[in-house]
Amino acid sequence: MSDAHDADPRRALPSVDRLATAVARAELAERRAALHDGGAPPQDDLVAAARRRLRPSLRRVLNATGVVVHTNLGRAPLSTAAQAAVADVAAGYSNLELDLADGRRGSRQDHVAALLRELTGAEAALAVNNCAAATLLAVAALAGPDREVIVSRGQLIEIGGSFRIPEVVAQAGARLVEVGTTNRTRVDDYRRAIGERTAAVLRAHQSNFRTVGFVEEAAIEELCNLGVAVIDDVGSGALAEDLPQLAGEPPVRRSVRAGADLVAFSADKLLGGPQAGLLVGRHEAIDRCARHPLARALRIDKLSLAALEATLQLYRDPELARREVPVLAMLDAPPEVLERRARRLAEGVGGELGTAVARAGGGALPLLELDGPAVALDPGPGGADALAAALRGGDPPVVGRIRAGRVILDPRTLADDELDAAIAAVRAARRP
Ligand SMILES: *Cc1c(COP(=O)(O)O)cnc(C)c1O
Repeated sequence: MSDAHDADPRRALPSVDRLATAVARAELAERRAALHDGGAPPQDDLVAAARRRLRPSLRRVLNATGVVVHTNLGRAPLSTAAQAAVADVAAGYSNLELDLADGRRGSRQDHVAALLRELTGAEAALAVNNCAAATLLAVAALAGPDREVIVSRGQLIEIGGSFRIPEVVAQAGARLVEVGTTNRTRVDDYRRAIGERTAAVLRAHQSNFRTVGFVEEAAIEELCNLGVAVIDDVGSGALAEDLPQLAGEPPVRRSVRAGADLVAFSADKLLGGPQAGLLVGRHEAIDRCARHPLARALRIDKLSLAALEATLQLYRDPELARREVPVLAMLDAPPEVLERRARRLAEGVGGELGTAVARAGGGALPLLELDGPAVALDPGPGGADALAAALRGGDPPVVGRIRAGRVILDPRTLADDELDAAIAAVRAARRP
């Protein structure tokens, strides 16, 4: 189709003149507009501004916060296998909804449903856009207009980003029936609330906070014996049950085993995959979700699906998952690995070795404290806020934490192959 001449990819690059003119025009147009609006002329370097203009808005960032699932930093970094799967599917067409065996239309769910059944023990599964979507769809499909959904007062939670259980139930068109108290709800409280209009009991995990002291909650097994449908929103949930750090999260398999009709959980929290919401449970309930009109509005896209399939494949071998899924590897990082990284970082940037407490993040395991080494940077006369801002403004940006007037870099959330870039970026940010 093309001769050797056209095949040289360098020919696709714009000329210096075209590129420079386009960037300069855009930059000058913005400045003219600012002056026209009566603003002061910007003082910064025109060349630096032009360079910034050429950078994409959404960029790779180095996470030195020690918060493993950091929602503002894109939650879970993907495994090598998941990255490759995304790149492959993105580069061309795919069998997203084509059954390659018989040439007929297939379902995008087929790429992950069997894996989800195998890993959770559920009869059926459905992947949607995120866990908020999964819970909304679950309530809409099982309850619907004017039917009642029973929720413990201790579980009328807000997750952040305006996901509040009472509002989710209302948006799903169902009527909320509150039972129990903030700190104690017993299975009899649920039993007394069950009536003709009851569609389901909804359990929502207290993901990002804990109640302690005089507290009581009904176990999922008790709820599943009430004789009504049960939706269990476990939030992050745990698939890697053998990881001691995840002991405080509700295991997905336990809820399935208990007989929950639908269990909803997130793919990009402690599962360590792409943004997605997973529903697993009984055939009949999953079918109702798949057939509900909202399912189309909340459906998962092909790139997330590719990453999800690759991530779930790793979970078939729990040891492989602990090694290859970055979120699990970071939670379980051996002290000697962290020490080595911290020392290299401290030497490279001229910081002081100390300790810090890393966290799971992502609205999960709020009490889990992961002790480890860290590097403290003396900010100099500008102060810690100025140094943190300079680090964020670098290329690549480095995001750390401020503690007692110093910037702390936690190596737990930096990959080994990010250390050199982190060292160079910190050095550049500290240059006067
Ligand atoms: C995080 C969370 C959600 C929302 O999950 P997303 O994947 O962020 O949409 C819903 N319910 C609970 C209990 C959660 O912890």
